[in-house]
Amino acid sequence: NDEKIICIGCGATIQTEDPSKLGYAPKSSLDKEEVICRRCFRLKHYNEVQDVELTDDDFLKILNGVGEAKGLIVKIVDIFDFNGSWLPGIHRFTGGNDVLLVGNKVDLLPKSVKHNRMKHWLRQQARELGLKPIDVALVSAEKGIHIKEVMDLIEQYRNDQDVYVIGCTNVGKSTFINRIIKEVTGEYDIITTSYFPGTTLDMIEIPLDDGQAIYDTPGIINHHQMAHFVNKKDLKVITPKKEIKPKVYQLNEQQTLFFGGLARFDFIKGERSSFVCYLSNELHIHRTKLEKADDLYETHVGEMLSPPRKDELGNFPELVRQEFSIREGKKDIVFSGLGWVMIPEGGVVVAAYVPKGVKVFVRDSLI
Ligand code: GDP
Repeated sequence: NDEKIICIGCGATIQTEDPSKLGYAPKSSLDKEEVICRRCFRLKHYNEVQDVELTDDDFLKILNGVGEAKGLIVKIVDIFDFNGSWLPGIHRFTGGNDVLLVGNKVDLLPKSVKHNRMKHWLRQQARELGLKPIDVALVSAEKGIHIKEVMDLIEQYRNDQDVYVIGCTNVGKSTFINRIIKEVTGEYDIITTSYFPGTTLDMIEIPLDDGQAIYDTPGIINHHQMAHFVNKKDLKVITPKKEIKPKVYQLNEQQTLFFGGLARFDFIKGERSSFVCYLSNELHIHRTKLEKADDLYETHVGEMLSPPRKDELGNFPELVRQEFSIREGKKDIVFSGLGWVMIPEGGVVVAAYVPKGVKVFVRDSLI
């Protein structure tokens, strides 16, 4: 029979084909009188949320729903992949609601990075993209850094209203929500005993003391994220796992650095200087002469220059070059999703290469 079955938890249409998509439930569960999707099952029985992938249309529907509702929007971004993790046009969907911008993965920043600078930069970037957050916070969902502070901010800004947590995949939204669940429920199993209303399509509800709730919305895939150009194993290589150890390269003009085979940095013109690379400690950096760089890449991408791997080259986009003339220091050349290179002083011309679709840009140095 082709009648639609609806999850009694979140209201998503049940499907049994793709575990990574919304509404997945194993076939065996369809015999039950009331069917619950795996995502809701996990929340109900393990107090744990899991991210599911959504189509762009589904996501737009959810965003529209959030815009029509009244409440505080908590938008999570990955501070290592700000542009890759931004939801374009988000300001059009917020309705009149306040947005608290939360930058996650602060544990990865080297100690030398000033948190206030990072926050200032996040706010400035958000504004350039059309969003005026009511406040900006930095957290580490994984390490539990500043979670209490963010919960206080949420409490302060929500004005007794509901809270909607949004963010694209990989920003650490599930980790963040799971932290909050722990904080909110404490020793008590509030979630497992709570009623799943089934009216808020695709959203998971975490009840708050005053009858309001925190809603976890599913994440959307941003296809221009560096993360989507590498396989799962390599994602571990390019994603920093612990505090980044800056690597200093003294370069003369006409020298090149390759970051695996994913990105490239040319020092075209200027005095010999120390460039500082803030990238995953595991990502291999290869130095060469600029005049040899093209050939080297062609011959060794997928091997010495990897990720990507040889068998992935067919799907790997070409590297696109962008030139920057830096008049005054200190600046960061940011490779969205990978990290950045600090340019100590002005008076240099450099070029950055990233896979087509990935963003690269200059900002004032965070150090
Ligand atoms: P989601 O897709 O947004 O729900 O993201 P996840 O919660 O599944 O996290 C994506 C990846 O980021 C996982 O590998 C997490 O371990 C990692 N992650 C999440 N939060 C943090 C954090 O605060 N610091 C670091 N270093 N990694 C994090």
